[in-house]
Amino acid sequence: MALLSSLSLSKHLLMLVLLMEENEVHCKNSQPCDLSSHDYMSLTSLNLHGSLSFNETLRASKDFGGFRVRKPGAVVEPGSVQDIVDVIKVGLSSVSGLTVAARGNGHCTNGQAQAHRGVVLEMRGIKGIEVSLSRDNPYVEAGAGELWIDVLKATLKLGFAPVSWTDYLSLSIGGTLSQAGISGQAFRHGPQISTVLQMEIVTGKGEVITCSHTEEEDLFYGALGGLGQFGIITKARIAIQPAPQRTRWIRAIYEEFEEFKGDQEMLISMPSSSHHVFDYIEGFVACIGDDPIDGWDTIPPNTMITHHTYDHHHAAWNSSSSSTVRYCLELAINYNTADSTHDIDKKMKAMVGSLRFSGGVVYSVDVSYLDFLSRVSYSEARARAIGTWDAPHPWLNILVPVSRIADFDRTIFKETVRLGVGGPILVYPLNSNKWSDRASAVVPDEEVFYLVAFLRFSLPFPLGFSVEAMHAQNQQIMEFCKQNGIGMKQYLPYYSKQSEWEDHFGNKWEEYRARKMRYDPMAILAPGQNIFPRIISRREEK
Ligand code: FAD
Repeated sequence: MALLSSLSLSKHLLMLVLLMEENEVHCKNSQPCDLSSHDYMSLTSLNLHGSLSFNETLRASKDFGGFRVRKPGAVVEPGSVQDIVDVIKVGLSSVSGLTVAARGNGHCTNGQAQAHRGVVLEMRGIKGIEVSLSRDNPYVEAGAGELWIDVLKATLKLGFAPVSWTDYLSLSIGGTLSQAGISGQAFRHGPQISTVLQMEIVTGKGEVITCSHTEEEDLFYGALGGLGQFGIITKARIAIQPAPQRTRWIRAIYEEFEEFKGDQEMLISMPSSSHHVFDYIEGFVACIGDDPIDGWDTIPPNTMITHHTYDHHHAAWNSSSSSTVRYCLELAINYNTADSTHDIDKKMKAMVGSLRFSGGVVYSVDVSYLDFLSRVSYSEARARAIGTWDAPHPWLNILVPVSRIADFDRTIFKETVRLGVGGPILVYPLNSNKWSDRASAVVPDEEVFYLVAFLRFSLPFPLGFSVEAMHAQNQQIMEFCKQNGIGMKQYLPYYSKQSEWEDHFGNKWEEYRARKMRYDPMAILAPGQNIFPRIISRREEK
């Protein structure tokens, strides 16, 4: 008994020491603060155009993942590019240990935009959208803190739009370009990083550099998919094209994975010049049952947008297959209001004619191009209403080589996640040749690979799946890939050891590391990615 209580006392003492360590740093004016006195004093003496706060740190401590919370020492809302330079320069002092994280809209899921005891730069203040409609090279130039939805609306006003998207548009320009930016247009136009013409970047040395395919190319390609390691993107110039006005949004169900896979791969291999190439190709796994999140009822395109009702769609499921999962192919054809519905019907019939979906059932609906691209905002509203938007999201996104996707189906889709994951399971192929080998983003070493996204939504306690169980299943999936030699790559990657990062980057690692030395040698930037430890010349006396 005595032993037990002394053990529990030492446990409490240990806890206390740990807690004290967390809070041990005090500012010179004796206000508690998570920064060294040097960094605190240097930050307060800056003449910022924007704002600086040591107290309003809650938002910057969290992200969409909702399970990793790291409190920054300060939050800066930069009012200018110079503000970003000034904050980074505080970190460059030989006595500083400051780290600096750009936060776009905080939609990553593993704390990648956090800076424990460092400075979070709330990038949403870096704004501005300018459209240039030069005949040969139309583009939009956007501040890195702008959201894609606002870029879309601004360009659509002039009848233009970027060509490559993410499924959800309340993501920042700087945030997605640091990853890749993938959706159903990427098989044809490449990810968003393949559509960037020029960027302005503040490096970890505090230099402001304009870079492009021809100017400062090393930084340009490094920053594309670079996980924010080489600099903070402040502005990006993105290619645009004349925009369609309407979209025919189509879904069809498959019982057999082989047929689903065969059709998807045939569709993404069509040349862009073909009259029969779709404008968007995705797919997802639907699990048996009426679950509104990943069950059968998700098959018809979003009824919130269309107010369409679909009768007897379950008829398509009356089959002898014993599997609990089905596959839904999702396609889109863009068109203009001047095109007649009859012509679009004819075109669609010809385009889906050779596909091998089950039951002869195709769901389709016509929506505006804007509604189609912003379709996830309707799901967002529903998730907010039931509390799952703000609950934790232990997401796993991976890129699986085409040669192994059938193995993945047999074990993971048909067994491991056969009852669903509490959210969509996306699965669609992409063409490697649309990704620049010079960019930092890494993809599997095959001509075609699949994006497989387990977009888990947990219900608030005590209703939902346990977050721990979701994490454990993610681990199980990763382990399956490792044990079976499936050369997958994580998308929106997160690792805790540098050796895992080396594996992730593979033959790009040496170049990635060399770029870090060139552009952020003190490893001040994006500490939440957990790739490089901060280099500190000399610690200040506290
Ligand atoms: P943050 O999460 O704030 O930042 C992400 C990383 O980028 C951090 O390391 C941060 O430091 C760094 N960063 C942010 N801004 C800058 C900058 N200006 N310069 C340098 N580094 C910067 N991704 C897809 O590709 N396709 C999708 O369809 C898709 N759908 C999504 C749907 C939802 C509901 C959510 C939550 C995410 C989705 N994502 C998708 C993932 C998204 O691309 C990432 O979360 C990405 O990080 C963008 O989010 P953000 O702008 O909030 O960036």
